[in-house]
Amino acid sequence: MRDLHVHTPFCRHATGSPAEYAAAARRAGLAGICFSDHAPSPDGYDPANRMAMAEFPRYKAAVMGLEHGLEPEVLFGIEADYHETCVGFLEQWLPEQDFDVVLGSVHYIGEWGFDDPAQISKWADADVAGVWREYFKRVAALARTRMFDVLTHPDLPKKFGHRPPEKVARELAAPALDALAAAGMAIEINTSGLRKPAREIYPSAFILAMAEERGIPVCFGSDAHEPGQVGADFERAGRLARDTGYKETACFRKRKMTMTSI
Ligand code: ZN
Ligand code: FE
Ligand code: FE
Ligand code: ZN
Repeated sequence: MRDLHVHTPFCRHATGSPAEYAAAARRAGLAGICFSDHAPSPDGYDPANRMAMAEFPRYKAAVMGLEHGLEPEVLFGIEADYHETCVGFLEQWLPEQDFDVVLGSVHYIGEWGFDDPAQISKWADADVAGVWREYFKRVAALARTRMFDVLTHPDLPKKFGHRPPEKVARELAAPALDALAAAGMAIEINTSGLRKPAREIYPSAFILAMAEERGIPVCFGSDAHEPGQVGADFERAGRLARDTGYKETACFRKRKMTMTSI
């Protein structure tokens, strides 16, 4: 298996050097690791949680410096947020870079970072189904940009345990999954939800089944923010994928998707 989603201290909220993440991947017996730290945003979007534009060359050099031709294979990626203030920059910037993969995320609805522990109080008077609706609207819009390869943590609004009834969640997720399928994107089975109050992999089994029905490929990510989290709970993630009917997993090099059996 490959872990396509790990962070580095360049984002200001992760610990451990890239070499330590790669060493952890080797110890975990992974075939590959992809660095996918939070993309810079010169337009001022959420600057506290990402590298500055001027740091990007150092991020790239730190990852590229790990290349050694041995396992685990090291891939160079980025986690880029879909947000109305980022789209213009990303549209121009992403194609100019030599990423292996671009992960697309939705962490904000308007001004609200709904998965940010520092902004959790806003959930107290939020309409949960309404938040999920706004979230999946943005996921569909993300897919329609054709700028991203993978949707990360597909049902992120459940992070702190806020879930609408399953029937409602299905109705809200369906058009977003249709848009992801139409865009030829993959979705990530992200184990970090197990470490959060949701206590569940992103996405939930029923959403993964909806993705499988639409032929949407999957890949695996730990969303590690420290080396000890690399490849965390991947056995469980692999089991979830197989139980859902998946036989293959997606990997990316220079933004081309290839499939290998799980
Ligand atoms: Zn992060
Ligand atoms: Fe994220
Ligand atoms: Fe992440
Ligand atoms: Zn993430």
